[in-house]
Amino acid sequence: MSDAPLRRLRQLGEVSVAELRHVGEKRVEGLKSLGIESVFDLLTLYPRRYIDRTKQVDLSDLTVGDEAAVFGEIDVITSRRTRQGKVMVEATVRDGTESIKVVFFNQAWRERQLTKGVQALFFGKVGDYRGQRQMTNPVVDVIVGATGDERDPSRVGRVVAIYPASGKAGLTSWEMGGFVEESLRRAGAFFDPLDDVARAPLELVERTAAFWGIHLPEELSEVAPARRRLAFDEFFRLQLVLALRRARLEASAAGIRHPFDPADLDVAAGELLAPESSLVRRFIAGHRFNLTGAQRRVLGEVASDMAGPLPMHRLLQGDVGSGKTVVALAAMLAARDGARQSVLMAPTEVLAEQHLASLRDDLARLSVADDSVLGGERPLSVQLLTGRVRAKDRQAVLDGLLRGSVDIVVGTHALLSEDVRFRALGLIVIDEQHRFGVEQRAVLRDEGRARSLEGADPDLLVMTATPIPRTAAMVIFGDLDVSVLDELPAGRRVIDTTWAQGPLDVEACWARVRSEVAAGRRAYVICPLVEGSERVEATSAVEERTRLATNELRGLAVGLVHGQMKSSEKEDVMNQFRAGELDVLVATVVIEVGVDVPEATVIVIEDAWRFGLAQLHQLRGRVGRSDLQSYCYLLGEPPSDEGAARLNALVATNDGFELAEVDLAMRGEGTLLGARQKGRSDLRLAKLRQDEDLLVGAQRLAVTMVEEDGAALAAMIDELRLFVDDDEATYLFKS
Ligand code: ADP
Ligand code: MG
Repeated sequence: MSDAPLRRLRQLGEVSVAELRHVGEKRVEGLKSLGIESVFDLLTLYPRRYIDRTKQVDLSDLTVGDEAAVFGEIDVITSRRTRQGKVMVEATVRDGTESIKVVFFNQAWRERQLTKGVQALFFGKVGDYRGQRQMTNPVVDVIVGATGDERDPSRVGRVVAIYPASGKAGLTSWEMGGFVEESLRRAGAFFDPLDDVARAPLELVERTAAFWGIHLPEELSEVAPARRRLAFDEFFRLQLVLALRRARLEASAAGIRHPFDPADLDVAAGELLAPESSLVRRFIAGHRFNLTGAQRRVLGEVASDMAGPLPMHRLLQGDVGSGKTVVALAAMLAARDGARQSVLMAPTEVLAEQHLASLRDDLARLSVADDSVLGGERPLSVQLLTGRVRAKDRQAVLDGLLRGSVDIVVGTHALLSEDVRFRALGLIVIDEQHRFGVEQRAVLRDEGRARSLEGADPDLLVMTATPIPRTAAMVIFGDLDVSVLDELPAGRRVIDTTWAQGPLDVEACWARVRSEVAAGRRAYVICPLVEGSERVEATSAVEERTRLATNELRGLAVGLVHGQMKSSEKEDVMNQFRAGELDVLVATVVIEVGVDVPEATVIVIEDAWRFGLAQLHQLRGRVGRSDLQSYCYLLGEPPSDEGAARLNALVATNDGFELAEVDLAMRGEGTLLGARQKGRSDLRLAKLRQDEDLLVGAQRLAVTMVEEDGAALAAMIDELRLFVDDDEATYLFKS
């Protein structure tokens, strides 16, 4: 036994569950419907909970009103119809001495499931029926079924693991446990890719102990360390894939050394400069305001990436209003200092057009060297490329990009279209897009190189205004370096946020809109989110605008934007609002991200509870974009505690990073990681909040292991083949 070869996970991934003793054709099907095909799948089907039979609640200790889990054996079970015609199944459950009645309504099948002798766990509230204790419709986990082969009392140890059983697949928790146990016993000892040195700092147990401890613990105290090790492995595999991906990218990189001198960041607005100074320097000196400390620091990080030999791969996280655009702009100018072009990609046309306008404003006085023009100098050229740019204009932009006479192109996904080519693409900036996955980023990079005559890898800067907790960023953006803009421009005030709960509060809210408008400021009113239908949403927005314009906001110029309007109409309205021709803008969430109108100082969000926390924070970030005091009013009565909790959280803090933590705690990580959870590589045991140290440790170890490129890495690569698809494996694991 001792010199049997150590078992590798990948081998177990190749053993079908059909090989197990008690798994016949029917159960193979049942397991398959649960996504379990191999022995490895079984071993990573982790127990839902455990019952410590030494600490079980005795029926004699139960009192009415308790929420309890009761373990017992079915004594008598009967079924009848109630007077209302419902099927009522009634069972007497015994635990040695005492008994309790368990009643099910409309679950006729219980009579077949819970036959005499079946041992099961019943979760529920203990009620009182005519002076007797009774549980009604409890959750049931069958532990020992009534059939002989399953009923092996020797397996009822002190601690019983409860598996996610499935009535539909006809599998009990007990059977699952049996399959897992057989798998474990037959697998023998596991090969552990982590040696003592790797495990010690994080206090990780060996893999064999971990699998046994999670599935067949003798004491409950074995479970936590087992879980810790297996959770680490989940993070570790994920981080290893990210580290490998990065290493492959770097190995094949044709990076650009941009002439970005960090010393150029050390100028003050208004400073006089030598005319031959870099664009970056001229821009900063000529700008309306000084950079914040955080902007300077982040640009320093960007500068060292851009000046270095490897392509930049950086995520810029910044709270709403922290001034990410300026960072992007300076980076694009650094690219132009090396005679290269930049792309700024926005998620919507409205935002692309807004960026175009503000960039042109900010860059108006800058000229660039160009040998192909008379005098060798021309104004910096910033152009737009979206789906609604007319064919003739579009062609002109395309020509300019290819010739090099366009320096910066701002647009939407239309920028990815086949015919967009560059003379020398140096930098891609993606704004407000945290839904851009790892794969899409890789595509962008490859395309960037392929479409540039120069044939080099453009640097990449991804910006997101929806802060996510550091741990989530490490999982979702683990292939990127992260910079954080954690400082708002000087003079910003905390947005005064009120949850208007009664008619008086609501009246005060509209009064505030009127008084701010009277003082020359502007306001947004966000209409309720209507699930599933942009059309209905639009209709209700139209009605709301009319209602406000004739009632609460009578006499004010009230405009409207919603998702059903054409882009050109939207843009017209936005321009009127920006110019102050409209006082109030009634809008659906189309203005959620990025919209920047510094004079807007009030935002009213109707039925605010319908929005997610991140979205609410985004919306609120439309105001407070200058040194004027701004206000946010949340209207509506949340029908649930969660809705109320979101509104309270928003009132309590203005800090997007803090809200992101709250959001993670409230929603769990499933939603956050949604896009990346797929198949076997998902996080089953690991929890971002609770296991942060494991995640950090996993990342560190992954990076070291990839750098060392030794036997340990080879072993892990073998294991990873279980988790990545073939295409990815070919790419990642070729050496
Ligand atoms: P976001 O990070 O939300 O994209 P923006 O880049 O749109 O933020 O900047 C928000 C507002 O703050 C803009 O009006 C911008 O001009 C202004 N701003 C940016 N940086 C500074 C600064 N250093 N000092 C003063 N105002 C700034
Ligand atoms: Mg922005």
